[in-house]
Amino acid sequence: MNEIWHPFVQMRGFETKGTVVRAEGSWLYLSDGRRVFDGISSWWVNILGHSHPVIVEAIAKQAATFDQVIIADFSHAPAVELTERLRKILPDGLEQVFFSDNGSTSVEVALKMAVQAQHSRGESKRARFVAFEGSYHGDTAGAMSVGARGVFNEVFEPMLFDVDFLPYGDSSAVLEYCNQHGSEVIAMIMEPLIQGAGGIAFSDPEFVALSKKACSDAGIYFIADEVMTGWGRTGTLFAMEQTGVSPDFICLSKGITGGTLALGVTATTQEVYDLFLGDDKSSAFLHGHSYSGNPISCAAANATLGLIESERMLEKVETMELLYRQWIPRFEEIPGLFTVRARGGIFAFEIGGSGADYLDPAGHRVAARVLKENIYIRPLGNTVYLMPPYCVSHDELNQVLEILWDATKREQSSGDE
Ligand code: PMP
Repeated sequence: MNEIWHPFVQMRGFETKGTVVRAEGSWLYLSDGRRVFDGISSWWVNILGHSHPVIVEAIAKQAATFDQVIIADFSHAPAVELTERLRKILPDGLEQVFFSDNGSTSVEVALKMAVQAQHSRGESKRARFVAFEGSYHGDTAGAMSVGARGVFNEVFEPMLFDVDFLPYGDSSAVLEYCNQHGSEVIAMIMEPLIQGAGGIAFSDPEFVALSKKACSDAGIYFIADEVMTGWGRTGTLFAMEQTGVSPDFICLSKGITGGTLALGVTATTQEVYDLFLGDDKSSAFLHGHSYSGNPISCAAANATLGLIESERMLEKVETMELLYRQWIPRFEEIPGLFTVRARGGIFAFEIGGSGADYLDPAGHRVAARVLKENIYIRPLGNTVYLMPPYCVSHDELNQVLEILWDATKREQSSGDE
């Protein structure tokens, strides 16, 4: 009998990579004595490394003070402090912060807010969302609907609403679409600069800026899903900062608590917030989760935001990118590798095919090789990538790249072995 039903896993024949008993910095310590490098920050969340003592202390202190309170009727200092902190650092114009409890719910909230806001401003004839090929926004029904159709959501088709999908990175497709259908659309949702689960696909800041402008011109809300790209991963605190434009909504989660606790944030403009004001509940936003704005999660987030600044995390990400860039030519020499790329704290390439293919086993063969050297990665099909915690040292990261390079090279010549 299996011990746990694991997510995103075919349980038949499945064996775990090990049992974690402790974690510190970039390392996972397993019950069999192995120390394994966490090459993907445990699903992209542990941006500052595991069990950072400052975050751990903030959690312990808050848990001992009070653990949870219904945020529908009560306020609390950790949520107030977090709202104030976010107001200072979010892209311009994003002033109102709504809490939920994970990345999917932060997206779900943005979609629902966009629908209601359009309705409240007399635009209820708008009935469609537009998103991008290759996109992934989470696993709840709304978030799945705006995700590109494919292996993650095909079977759930009866639960999904229709969405128009445009090619990611194609500015003229966006312009043409907005010209033709602008008045029918509620919102556009995009992972700015980098699509994550769809295969670590990069787009240009100009594309993001143009898309946002096209949306503004057509009265379409622009939702930036920065669940993965947020908190410095692309080199700036938020990917949107590199585009020179601000979204109408931003969705945040993952790294916000440094990878310690679940928390989701959807932030929007004062203008949108005002559309929810009225004399009775009918115009209010009737949405919330039991753990929305949990005080311990908020305390962890406050500690994390403090550390991003005090430990100069953005500089560390810059150093990571420089090192990746030095390695790109060496990886490019390996036969059968495509689009070797780096941006901020992310390094990626495709193996054995130029496009991303989630069911392709090639990446997992590389992962199996590097795990033998105590490095954990979780390729997206044939897309192999690194997304380690920012606390990784230069030497550690260099060694990880060396091992990945060697394993990939051996995998590619394995026919000759
Ligand atoms: N949006 C993006 C861009 C993501 O990468 C993810 C998770 N990988 C989500 C939303 C969903 O977040 P969660 O897994 O916390 O529900």
